[in-house]
Amino acid sequence: MQIEIVTIGNEVLSGRTIDTNFAYLARLLEEASVQVAWHTTCGDAADKISEALTRALARADAVIMTGGLGPTPDDVTRKSVATVLGRPLSLEENVLASIRERIARYKWRMPKSVESMALIPRGAEVWTNPVGAAPGILIVHKDRQPVILLPGVPHEMEALAKEFVLPYLRARTGRAVETFTLRTYGLAESILHERIGVLGDSWSGASLAYLPSWFGVDLRVTVAGRDVAAVHDTALRAYNELYARVQPVVYSEGSRNMEEVVGQQLQELGYRIATAESCTGGLLAKRLTDVAGSSRYVDRGFVTYANEAKVELLGVDPEMLAAHGAVSEAVAGAMAQGARERARVDVGVGITGIAGPDGGSEQKPVGTVFIAVSSPQGDAARVHRFFGTRATVRERAAQCALDMLRRHLSGLPLEPSFE
Ligand code: ATP
Repeated sequence: MQIEIVTIGNEVLSGRTIDTNFAYLARLLEEASVQVAWHTTCGDAADKISEALTRALARADAVIMTGGLGPTPDDVTRKSVATVLGRPLSLEENVLASIRERIARYKWRMPKSVESMALIPRGAEVWTNPVGAAPGILIVHKDRQPVILLPGVPHEMEALAKEFVLPYLRARTGRAVETFTLRTYGLAESILHERIGVLGDSWSGASLAYLPSWFGVDLRVTVAGRDVAAVHDTALRAYNELYARVQPVVYSEGSRNMEEVVGQQLQELGYRIATAESCTGGLLAKRLTDVAGSSRYVDRGFVTYANEAKVELLGVDPEMLAAHGAVSEAVAGAMAQGARERARVDVGVGITGIAGPDGGSEQKPVGTVFIAVSSPQGDAARVHRFFGTRATVRERAAQCALDMLRRHLSGLPLEPSFE
């Protein structure tokens, strides 16, 4: 099944609102083995919406439209769709009742215009919005082409897509789908590609996507087919084969992130941690404390930007600072040890570097970051060179520090490699 997604809204077209609805839907639809073949964005004008739908109907097996279902005069999606599909709008009393009930529950005043959200094209199926007023609408055009309308508010669109759109399209395609993701860190996409090589026979029906970001490269496998058992079998074989090839750089599976992995390790070891950060300005502490329940293992974070702060709060030797400079392996190590000692915890991490855009030198160019760990397992420090903007260097440094912690705590070599 080839699908077209049409996102509607002047704010999206102007570039002020990033089209996260499209990204969310496209990712979700992978799980139904539906191919998103086209993506159109148009403004809130009736003629543009009609044109986009007419075009989509001429080429796609199904169309999903988001946005413009609200009560304001610029919300003209339902009217345009009704006209193109030849299904006049009528007021659905039960939809109106549920909108009224929702508004009464929150003790809001109900302007007359809200009633327009209960105008539904003839013969459409209505999907009740679990988190908002505007319902999702399904019209099967000429008994063969589903046209699905969803509100533009992202969390409403997402709730309806998960609860109704995905099961509906899954049932319609009649295809079984299994997916899994192995999350890797430390090696470039091209090196992973070389290692994984060409997909073998055991992969027939499976596809592998490389999804790089500064958090690493996610390897996402999708297996689809008519036979549920065969799909499961292929997924299992693909998993075993892929895992065997890349295991040394896999840090987690599914959507589990690095801070959750490290958090679990710390908890299992019964360790508490303190961070000492310079160029990342607290980003590592933020990442660690993003995890619910992290108070069980996070003690504190020191943000020591100035040399004096490193001396005062962490006990870094001023002579060491003068001899090596603040951005050095020795100072990163002293920061990690200082954090550990001052907080009286098991693990200390030190990060010091040059995030840029200024402050680099020939020996220590922008992106040079020293990361050190101190724990009952010993002390370790490494230098890294990260590329990118100030923001990316900081993000990369925090992710790298987490991976270094993960490796250090598990007794793995600190340098990511396949050895
Ligand atoms: P309502 O009018 O009730 O808010 P609606 O269905 O008419 O809902 P819109 O008015 O088009 O939706 O958009 C509502 C909000 O959702 C806006 O704040 C808009 O920025 C956001 N939004 C709309 N489309 C998208 C999109 N494609 N991606 C991300 N956000 C979006």
